[in-house]
Amino acid sequence: SDKEDIEFLKGCLKSYPDFPNKGILFQDIFSLLSQPEAFGKLKKLLVSRAKTVAPQIDVVVGLDSRGFLFGPIIALELGIPFLPVRKKGKLPGKVFTESYQLEYGEDILEMQDGVIKEGQKALIVDDLIATGGTMEAACKLVQRAGGSVSCCLVVIELTELRGREKLVAPVEYLMQY
Ligand code: AMP
Repeated sequence: SDKEDIEFLKGCLKSYPDFPNKGILFQDIFSLLSQPEAFGKLKKLLVSRAKTVAPQIDVVVGLDSRGFLFGPIIALELGIPFLPVRKKGKLPGKVFTESYQLEYGEDILEMQDGVIKEGQKALIVDDLIATGGTMEAACKLVQRAGGSVSCCLVVIELTELRGREKLVAPVEYLMQY
């Protein structure tokens, strides 16, 4: 069952205290990709979740960089476009720009102009939501590009930081900590 598969994934996921900074418990999503059985279950769960929570979506948007591991797989299975949101300066052509707060300072995300058609519905994918700052900036980019956000899908939600409260779109997760 899905529940058993999620428990299996939790058993495979490696976490590292005090990385990259003291006080952070780093959830290493690559530890699931290094185990083919876990990666297979993860793929199956993400695709089926995407189909049930957002049956009407037009595009999948993945966030730089670990959203690029899962977004394209989901988009390909659904037969719809995959679109990247990237850190500043990585995307060619005209771009929309959105800055967001980090623990120390700020960072900038960008999305290409013209890749979303007016009114298209997006599913945004990332590995993990913490404070929600990254996801919030991505939602704003999708909206400025003319789209609307149907759902934000993550492998892991860190609930204590209440990231989902920053977002207008619902957050779907496979694992919560
Ligand atoms: P936030 O903007 O605070 O929601 O942070 C989300 C982004 O930071 C995601 O792209 C994650 O890959 C990364 N991130 C934040 N906290 C962690 C953590 N504890 N373990 C792994 N990645 C994290």
